[in-house]
Amino acid sequence: MSGSEADRRIPNQHARTRSRMSIDEKTSKTLKDLGAKSPEAIGELFAGVTSALESERKALIASGAGDERERSQKVKDLRDRWLARKGGLVSLIDENWLKKAPKELKPAVGRAFNQLRQLAKCVDTESLLRELSGGAAAAQPAAVAATRGARPSAKQGRLDLTLPGYRQPLGSIHPVTQVMREIEDIFLGLGFSIESGPEIESVYYNFDALNIPESHPARDDWDTLYVNSETVLRTHTSPVQIRAMEKHGAPLYILCPGKAYRHDNPDSTHATMFHQVEGLAVDTDISFADLKGTLDYFARKFFGDKIKTNFTPSFFPFTEPSGELSISCVFCGGGGCRICKDSGWIEVMGCGMVHPEVLRHGGIDPERYSGWAFGLGVERFAMMKYDINDIQLFHQGDVRFLEQF
Ligand SMILES: [Zn+2]
Repeated sequence: MSGSEADRRIPNQHARTRSRMSIDEKTSKTLKDLGAKSPEAIGELFAGVTSALESERKALIASGAGDERERSQKVKDLRDRWLARKGGLVSLIDENWLKKAPKELKPAVGRAFNQLRQLAKCVDTESLLRELSGGAAAAQPAAVAATRGARPSAKQGRLDLTLPGYRQPLGSIHPVTQVMREIEDIFLGLGFSIESGPEIESVYYNFDALNIPESHPARDDWDTLYVNSETVLRTHTSPVQIRAMEKHGAPLYILCPGKAYRHDNPDSTHATMFHQVEGLAVDTDISFADLKGTLDYFARKFFGDKIKTNFTPSFFPFTEPSGELSISCVFCGGGGCRICKDSGWIEVMGCGMVHPEVLRHGGIDPERYSGWAFGLGVERFAMMKYDINDIQLFHQGDVRFLEQF
């Protein structure tokens, strides 16, 4: 009679046979041989293993320590029986149950196996010796303590004060914050001050005051996350410039770091939330030459002395004339590569002379004062600096990524 026939006739046959088998017999068979076809049957099997583990451990501890040689032999035997790499019960379960499990049962077997592996730490040499030296009082469920990684209490064993303590893992500063602070430092050194403003912003500050007319495509739903018809999640940090001009007037040298939001589909270079740093200088006799000189200095400070800068004309509603700053490619040194599309240059930020209309909105007389401004994406700078190819990594909170900085 084959296994499957038996199954149909007497459904509990397998369960009864299983319960009569010793743990060694069970672990030498596959789940199929044992007729364990459901997560419940798997659970029952593993429960049997756990209780065997616990009773063998308790038996050893109850048997008393004996002399040192006897003790270490007993410990070694039990440890090897369960944990030996070859032929130990845990690795037999791995071989015969987990690896040979049918696909649909794999998750259940895997989970149960992982738990067992944790529990089985209570029969490693160190744990057993510790408990034996603590006497029979230690025959409490040490398996529980082992799974939590707890140390033995003073009651359980002798407390060894010479052991090193547990170190608390230290966090580190997020790479985006690091880069933002680095940029801030450079401009603070030039006499700029830091300004901040609300991330939930009025349509007036986000668009109108910056000379972005109703018809501008950036005002479409596609790019902007609207809270209601009058309020948006700011699409850039530029509203802070208007607020600062209103608050402080001219002359003004400020840096506006912060979060911005756009209705972009996330991919390796776009995220719905990202960080910007904008700079604004307003004073009498400010010219494009000041802008060029400042940004050239900044690029060298940030990327290194060998960096060359290049300005090309562009268009932004809030600056006139407008430009893009490119730097010689940080990856190939300007020779041409895949990242700079063989041009040797990488575009890093937009900039320009502040549009007179924008100064007027900030309450500053454009006849008397002029100014320049720039805006850059912090994630993009961090990606160039650390050679990271996916912006999403910054926002996923994966410690394996973050602890590298
Ligand atoms: Zn290149």
